[in-house]
Amino acid sequence: MSHHLTIVDHPLAQHKLTLMRDKTRSTAEFRQLLREISQLLAYEVTRSLALATKTIETPMQTMQAPVLEGKKLALISILRAGNGLLDGVLELIPSARVGFVGLYRDEETLQPVQYYFKVPESLEDRLVIAVDPMLATGNSSVAAIDLLKQAGAKNIRFLCLLAAPEGVKRMAEAHPDVPIVTASLDSHLNEQGYIVPGLGDAGDRMFGTK
Ligand code: URA
Repeated sequence: MSHHLTIVDHPLAQHKLTLMRDKTRSTAEFRQLLREISQLLAYEVTRSLALATKTIETPMQTMQAPVLEGKKLALISILRAGNGLLDGVLELIPSARVGFVGLYRDEETLQPVQYYFKVPESLEDRLVIAVDPMLATGNSSVAAIDLLKQAGAKNIRFLCLLAAPEGVKRMAEAHPDVPIVTASLDSHLNEQGYIVPGLGDAGDRMFGTK
């Protein structure tokens, strides 16, 4: 993947995103739409995966058939909202390995601090797809990818539902080797760090915590 930012402009993805943004959407509907849209995003983020061939027997004859090359890929959920994207992506890639990165923001330094980190082994040999619905300031995404690189990851992609220009810029500066796939590049961040027009707090909307 050569382009740093890919916007998934598929009409189904765009339509579902509009439904998700609507503030009258229920938690159940929001969660279901997130599941559906994450499969469309997963389709795009895996579009350029390398294929190998394997010999199989169909009921008719022997053939050389395409299969994914290399080790199973690793999906890394950035807690907690990443879990909402993870579910749908896993439906499309059921044999993927899964890891979790938990970060909170230190109130004094405003820097992300790690509270949980558990990832599959041999990260260096896998395509690693980090998932987080909202790329806002980019602070937590950049920190999560720093940790994944420290753990050996070399081939990383970042999958999100919405991105703000500020977050895309921050990621491009810190991790120019990590392509970003998203359904929309929104206008800007407000003073609280929320994406505008956005969809509000993705975690609260998917888990019903507000
Ligand atoms: N995280 C969210 O959940 N929403 C935003 O708009 C920005 C960050």
